[in-house]
Amino acid sequence: MAAASSSPTISPCQSCGACCAHYRVSFYWQEAAQRGLDESLLVQVSPWQVCFRGTEQKPVRCVNLEGEVGTCVSCRIYDQRTTPCRSVDAGDEKCLQARAAHGLGSFQP
Ligand code: SF4
Ligand code: SF4
Repeated sequence: MAAASSSPTISPCQSCGACCAHYRVSFYWQEAAQRGLDESLLVQVSPWQVCFRGTEQKPVRCVNLEGEVGTCVSCRIYDQRTTPCRSVDAGDEKCLQARAAHGLGSFQP
């Protein structure tokens, strides 16, 4: 997902970020601890699950997303991003759905 990286490698995600502003990004609380995520980034959504702050509400926008969706974005915690973040690949079904929701149309590699 949200491969909105600040790395020097060019990625289509760096000019997108739609999936970081479309889906609730929830995961098992222990993953947060394992990745060393600060509690201030998280919202409890069930006894066993947390999500990134900002993805539990509408309009969705992950607290870790910097920049303007569809223009230029990056993820503040890219190296610590969680399983759901890593489960969306540029061009896959979830990606295209998120892009469509932001009026970004078809995927441009
Ligand atoms: S919606 Fe697709 S292109 Fe955009 S950041 Fe997510 S994975 Fe990358
Ligand atoms: S943690 Fe980063 S990659 Fe994951 S949804 Fe938030 S901004 Fe996107």
